[in-house]
Amino acid sequence: MAIRTSIHALHAYVPGEQPQGPNVVKLNTNENPYPPSPKALAALAGLSSEALRKYPEPSGWALREALAEVHGLTPENFIVVNGSDEGLTLCTRCFCEHEGTVGYMAPSYSLYPVLSEIAELRQTPYPLNNDFTWTVPDEIPEDLFFLTRPNAPTSMSLPREEVLTLLGRAKGVVVVDEAYVAFAADSLMDKVGEISNLLVSRTFSKSHGLAGMRVGYLAGPVDLIDALHKIRDSYNLDAVAQVVAREAILDQTYTRQVVENILATRDRVVAELMDRGFQVLPSDTNFLFAKVPEGADAQGLFDALKAKQVFVRYFPGETTGSYLRITIGTDEEMDHFLSELDACLPT
Ligand code: PMP
Repeated sequence: MAIRTSIHALHAYVPGEQPQGPNVVKLNTNENPYPPSPKALAALAGLSSEALRKYPEPSGWALREALAEVHGLTPENFIVVNGSDEGLTLCTRCFCEHEGTVGYMAPSYSLYPVLSEIAELRQTPYPLNNDFTWTVPDEIPEDLFFLTRPNAPTSMSLPREEVLTLLGRAKGVVVVDEAYVAFAADSLMDKVGEISNLLVSRTFSKSHGLAGMRVGYLAGPVDLIDALHKIRDSYNLDAVAQVVAREAILDQTYTRQVVENILATRDRVVAELMDRGFQVLPSDTNFLFAKVPEGADAQGLFDALKAKQVFVRYFPGETTGSYLRITIGTDEEMDHFLSELDACLPT
């Protein structure tokens, strides 16, 4: 039996745990604690058997029209994908030559190295500074650069001016991964079409509360988007997802309300954590990256919280090993988290 050598050696992506059960407080994979738009749920309930019997519209046209309306672009500027992870995969297949190169900040989203390994591409991780800011390198020769903005797990955004500098210096395509942008101060979407090497990646998993449905999209200049359409699966986004996501993106009032709730909870939890001696990085996301207080041990806190059915995320290693990444849940969930945290912290 022959398995490709590079797959034998591959370090597969490790997703956050998906614990089940009624008493679990799940603050480990940055999901939205609130349900999707009622209009999206009504569309789901109203799906006909015909919609399931037939193949879906191959390119998700009606969803792309809705995206065009919301973002002030044309449907041709979009490709819809089965979770934004699929869009990132397509980029590694589309924009890199054989044995080409991929660049990204380190630490950032840990899927990029895995996708690069799968595609047998060389990688350039550009380390963040000690304070988790990043200095744009003078030269960016890679075929493809993934810029997570806001970044994960740090929750911080590279300033907009510096992103524009990066776009100017990059030899290849730059994918600005805006998975968390709904919780941030600004986006690069307004530059789509204007800058020839810019793609913006978005997801329905966070601000729209549809992580279980797997929908994302890439926005960019028509030549780059056309190239991605050439290599996607013929029916990459199922009929259910196309209909539900369309309603979700058009219900901007609901999304705004949900985001505002999360931001209010975020502000409160930041203050609570700082009171307890945590150092919390300035968050542009629906999660916090917090350095545990002097005398506490991040891994130990992670384990102790887990034993109490409270799941956060811990990334071992020199730069991240004294931090916890905590998703913002409902106010009730965060109160529960804080009281369990108090029971775990050294006195
Ligand atoms: N980009 C970043 C930075 C993420 O953190 C995530 C979520 N793990 C994704 C993309 C993937 O999102 P999706 O659910 O759309 O595949």
